[in-house]
Amino acid sequence: MTTDMDIALSAELDPIVDIAAGLGLDAQDIIPHGWTKAKVPIDVLDKASADATDGRLILVTAMSPTPAGEGKTTTSIGLADGLNELARSNPEVGKAVLALREPSMGPVFGMKGGAAGGGYAQVVPMEDINLHFTGDFAAIAAANNLAATMLDNHIHFGNDLDVDPRRIHIRRVVDLNDRALRGVVVGLGGINGGVPREDAFDIVVASEVMAVFCLATSLADLKERLGRIVLAHSRSREPITVNDIGAAGAMTALLRNALAPNLVQTLEHSPAFIHGGPFANIAHGCNSLLATKAGLALGDWVVTEAGFGADLGAEKFLDIKCRTAGIWPSAVVVVATLRALKYHGGVDVKDVNSTDVSAVLEGMSNLELHCKNLREIYGLTPVVCFNRFPTDTDEEMAAAISHLDGLGVAAVESTHWADGGKGALDLAEAVVEAAGGVSGSGGAGAGRSDGTAGPAVDDGSVFVAGTASGDAEAPAVDPTTRARYSYELDLPLEDKIRTIAQRIYQAADVDLPVKVKRKLKQFTEEGYGDAPVCIAKTQYSLSTDATLRGAPTGHIIEVKDVRLSAGAGFVVVIAGDIMTMPGLPKEPSALRIDITEDGNITGLF
Ligand code: ADP
Ligand code: MG
Repeated sequence: MTTDMDIALSAELDPIVDIAAGLGLDAQDIIPHGWTKAKVPIDVLDKASADATDGRLILVTAMSPTPAGEGKTTTSIGLADGLNELARSNPEVGKAVLALREPSMGPVFGMKGGAAGGGYAQVVPMEDINLHFTGDFAAIAAANNLAATMLDNHIHFGNDLDVDPRRIHIRRVVDLNDRALRGVVVGLGGINGGVPREDAFDIVVASEVMAVFCLATSLADLKERLGRIVLAHSRSREPITVNDIGAAGAMTALLRNALAPNLVQTLEHSPAFIHGGPFANIAHGCNSLLATKAGLALGDWVVTEAGFGADLGAEKFLDIKCRTAGIWPSAVVVVATLRALKYHGGVDVKDVNSTDVSAVLEGMSNLELHCKNLREIYGLTPVVCFNRFPTDTDEEMAAAISHLDGLGVAAVESTHWADGGKGALDLAEAVVEAAGGVSGSGGAGAGRSDGTAGPAVDDGSVFVAGTASGDAEAPAVDPTTRARYSYELDLPLEDKIRTIAQRIYQAADVDLPVKVKRKLKQFTEEGYGDAPVCIAKTQYSLSTDATLRGAPTGHIIEVKDVRLSAGAGFVVVIAGDIMTMPGLPKEPSALRIDITEDGNITGLF
């Protein structure tokens, strides 16, 4: 069997200077890391975005997935290659660039497939991208751990700030799934070991430093956001920030090179910015804002992925990231698979590869609701991409596509995994059309200078799934970006949570324990009442119960806790069991990874 690794290793990569040249960058504009990777410094990007007419942003999201993943990353890569393939016959289409997250080594050594795509839709060099890459996560870990170290050191040397050792929020991080570090005691070893206390480690991607890194617009903004991170509370319950312990300067210094986006290529030489990778539950789950902006400045199209299903990924991408950045997509691809439809149609996960047309149609309620939300709440045009798997049948595929045709939703089948960009030509064409055509007159990209309106706000209510989208009044359209969010920032925090629950998840209500209400009040008093909310819940259901498939209604969203991410600028709402330090399975994929005598890595997916 040909593995992802075999395909990746047999690819002929272009020198990274050539990929950069295709984006209008000179050799001296980039910082090469070897021949096939480079960082693009922020001052170069600033210059480019000042001269550029902005590219159009395409968000790739998905229906509620099965545990195997439905292929958002793979489809994003296939779509970028498909758009560039389309441009070969019609140069007016322009250049497509990718913006994706960097893989975490936790899952690389654990059990999931790689985060660099699959089959003939991959970013390369995949063995580097999956293992350390350009060292960004190490820099992020070092910056985070420096803050933790300085805080413990402050306590050791007299604790002038009166830090309450029982109210320390910052945790040290490593980029591995290391279950043994979920609970530890630090400060042992007598007087010189500091002050003993119970502590815990998280994986790097769960750190607030990672979320901050991915929302920062510049080095200065990074430093300011890092400075705001609340590390602990004092005995009198005052927040103690990174600025209070004086760590922001050194942390930013550690991150200065990492903050420049990484440039690599796909198997078909499409440029790809791969940068940053926050969790999609306790954080917003997409690549760095700087990478997205780099793509918008240097390309005509930017294809980007948001983690998890659209209820989480797209919601946070739109309500948090786009709002922060002043950008807005021109179209949204909703990745669907026949197996996920069958799963939502009630088929057991182990049987989803057997043909079952009626289960495919039964499971449509889930896909339809995600499309309906994108259309009716955000005014975006969804394009459903059926990511074709080897076990799919033509009969099921035809039934699924004709069902969506009947609802007026663009739906195409795509075979990029098997065929690369040529397999995604239909998808590319559908996306161009949804975004308003090749000329770009319909685009709603980042602060377009020509002042053109985006695609007409689509209110088509042909969907059968679900009830009306909540009672909340629909927020207004932002006149500059054409953005329309699911909630306004000036709503009280509690109402923001309720609005998302009712409008997006179709919940009857939210259940907020007294402890949670008290914390929300405290955040509001501390000046964070206008922050967006970042909901952490299962991705397998629109509800908080992973076993509720399809498009459940009338459920209650139980909020267990809320946390302030002051640097990232959002309030995290915990509505599920969120593991911030995963563990390895009994037979981790690390057992299969090896290296030959001449230095070639084997067994990586
Ligand atoms: P997501 O980004 O949604 O988590 P990925 O794109 O990473 O999903 O895909 C999950 C896994 O499924 C990867 O190992 C990928 O190689 C594999 N995969 C994706 N699309 C296909 C396909 N059409 N056929 C077979 N395997 C696929
Ligand atoms: Mg992915």
